[in-house]
Amino acid sequence: MLDMLRKIVQQVNAAKSLDAALDIIVKRIQQAMNTQVCSVYLLDPASQQYVMMATEGLNPKMVGQVSLALSEGVVGKVAARAEPINLEDASKHPSYYYVAGSGEENFTSFLGVPIIHQRKVLGVLVVQEQRQRHFNESEEAFLVTMSAQLAGVIAHAEVTGGVTVTPDSDKARSDAKFDGVAGAPGVAIGTAVVIAPPADLDGVPDQQSEAPELELQRFEEALEQVRHDIRVVGRSLAKRLKGEEQALFDVYLRMLDDNALAGEVMELIGQGQWAPGALRQVVQSHVQKFSLMEDPYLRERATDIKDLGRRVLAYLQKQTAGRPTQYPDNTIVVAEEITPAMLGEVPTDKLVGLVSVMGSGNSHAAILARSMGIPTVMGAVDFPTTQMHGRELILDGFSGRIFANPSSELLHFYDDILRNEQQLTAGLEALKDQPSVTQDGYKMPLWVNTGLVTDVALSLDKGAEGIGLYRTEVPFMIKEFFPSEVEQKKSYRKQLEPFAPRPVTMRTLDIGGDKSLPYFPIVEDNPFLGWRGIRVTLDHPEIFLVQVRAMLLASEGLDNLRIMLPMVSNVMEIDEGVALINQAFAELMDEGHQILQPEVGVMVEVPAAVYQVRAFARRVDFISVGSNDLTQYLLAVDRNNPRVAGLYYSFHPAVLQALQGIVSEAHKEQVQVSICGEMAGDPGGALLLMAMGYDVLSMNATNLPRVKSAIRGVSMPQARTLLDTVMAMEDPEAIQAEINDTLHRVGLGRLTRPVTHDGP
Ligand code: PEP
Ligand code: MG
Repeated sequence: MLDMLRKIVQQVNAAKSLDAALDIIVKRIQQAMNTQVCSVYLLDPASQQYVMMATEGLNPKMVGQVSLALSEGVVGKVAARAEPINLEDASKHPSYYYVAGSGEENFTSFLGVPIIHQRKVLGVLVVQEQRQRHFNESEEAFLVTMSAQLAGVIAHAEVTGGVTVTPDSDKARSDAKFDGVAGAPGVAIGTAVVIAPPADLDGVPDQQSEAPELELQRFEEALEQVRHDIRVVGRSLAKRLKGEEQALFDVYLRMLDDNALAGEVMELIGQGQWAPGALRQVVQSHVQKFSLMEDPYLRERATDIKDLGRRVLAYLQKQTAGRPTQYPDNTIVVAEEITPAMLGEVPTDKLVGLVSVMGSGNSHAAILARSMGIPTVMGAVDFPTTQMHGRELILDGFSGRIFANPSSELLHFYDDILRNEQQLTAGLEALKDQPSVTQDGYKMPLWVNTGLVTDVALSLDKGAEGIGLYRTEVPFMIKEFFPSEVEQKKSYRKQLEPFAPRPVTMRTLDIGGDKSLPYFPIVEDNPFLGWRGIRVTLDHPEIFLVQVRAMLLASEGLDNLRIMLPMVSNVMEIDEGVALINQAFAELMDEGHQILQPEVGVMVEVPAAVYQVRAFARRVDFISVGSNDLTQYLLAVDRNNPRVAGLYYSFHPAVLQALQGIVSEAHKEQVQVSICGEMAGDPGGALLLMAMGYDVLSMNATNLPRVKSAIRGVSMPQARTLLDTVMAMEDPEAIQAEINDTLHRVGLGRLTRPVTHDGP
């Protein structure tokens, strides 16, 4: 059964259109369950009717013709109740509704199960039989399982179906909409540039070529190189392999024959597809076919084809290596996973937006994008990246949506928002030299979070009073191996020097979770609960000590360094970390350097730390709250998983109580408490944190002017009243609404995010 399920899902996944997918579904389920009828009804959002989209067994002419209102017929009932209905005789059911011409009158028994994706009923899957009988438990279980598995595939096919039309047709201006998760606020209107990591055949985008002959030549060259490699390997292994194993190399060579794979690729190139795109299409279609075969030997051949495809792609990519990618004005970069290296590659004057299929609003890619002020949508899992290269897109980083082929009406709507945002940003520039004080004179220090070198200039430009978090892993992530002490010292100096004498808080390497180094992969089932942050560096004192030495050396003569330890969950980690810092300091003093002993602090990012604040505070000079991780761990919501992004509530009562508790406890030990999670960069969040008593708010430079404007726009009693109100509330969404209302009431409505999800 499982095998059957896997095969059907695979076949449906490979279908080229929604109609083809639905046809496969009904045919295969009808066969698998050995019933007479299988039909699928989908909700048409425009007419709010369930339309029969495919059938095996009923009158095929009625496909698209049979439609039922929301609670009409037994089908409507299944959808309304969102649970299966299993009937011996459907015609006796009070909701039974006969549609003339469907042929349904010939069938008595009925089993319908809802197709539900992300809580929404997409439609109903139905099987029917002439014989009056009750479908048995295992049949019902099979259909329910099938429907649950297919729901995601159908949802995906529904959204992608909208963009496969040719760009000139009327339907092309269809505002095809793709939902993701808000990554960085703002709107971008521009052209998609799809970036696939090297050797990722599945990520290669379709692209029309201007010179098919040249593409053909490129492909033939790459092919010849792969053939050559295979012959060389074959010859060198000849002595060690048996005849039949050696024959495998001939099979490979034959696969690359003009009459086989290569011929098909060439045909597509002849039709105008560029070589890598043609290669991807042919390889994918063969892989699909092979992986559905019964014979395990033949099924395994799918892996060989994939491997050959990757080899040819590697040579194709080698030919163009070093050739710069063309970035049009207003580039929107689209990738499976946005990396810091990618961000560095695109000229900043061309980059207006980012779309990442993976990740969520608090993934590190999103945090980086926010610090660069680039509107971003994360977790766009249904976005058909391979079809998007060169397309015009609207990216809505406020609500986390992307529109392809936008209509002029939608373009006008977003153009207005874009202009309003630009005006607001320009208006806030005047605040640069104004102090961060409330109307009644309370001073609230605003610091910044940095990662890239460019963040420093931007931060100074926005009037930052210090760096509350320098994420040292960012420079590590764009390297090919661990940077040396000298190299590290150079990059750290670039943060410390421009800010001196203002304090700069450098966090020791915080890798693991969703931050991996290409040269130090950490593969775990549960990376956010695994080897992360201080846990890695205490296990590798050689890495930790080099980093701390580099920080200390970089601070020589500037004396503005603070060192901070991430992901601490017990006091031993602090004691060990501090001991290593002291060791590095003592070594450098022995070497004759003149360095001021830095302040050392810890981050409170895990629930265990919340309950140990006083013990931590007694061991360090300052505490900084990492509310991004703290929220993820308190709410048990993976910050990187778009599926649960809706549950990641920054203003959840549990989070607010923890944040309030941390300040009170730390202040009992007279230790400074700052916060460097994203919440500090939200105007409403900043007011609450100020009222709680946080000594420093550290945020990305782009948000700093907004936060300053919020602080200057209220008095401390007003902020305290807001805090008192929300601390007494229970519902995180109501809390968010209360914060927005308050901002509007005190005349700061412009700082709240524009509402875009209702569209024009
Ligand atoms: C945090 O967790 O809030 C934090 C500031 O650290 P990071 O986002 O880099 O994990
Ligand atoms: Mg963190």
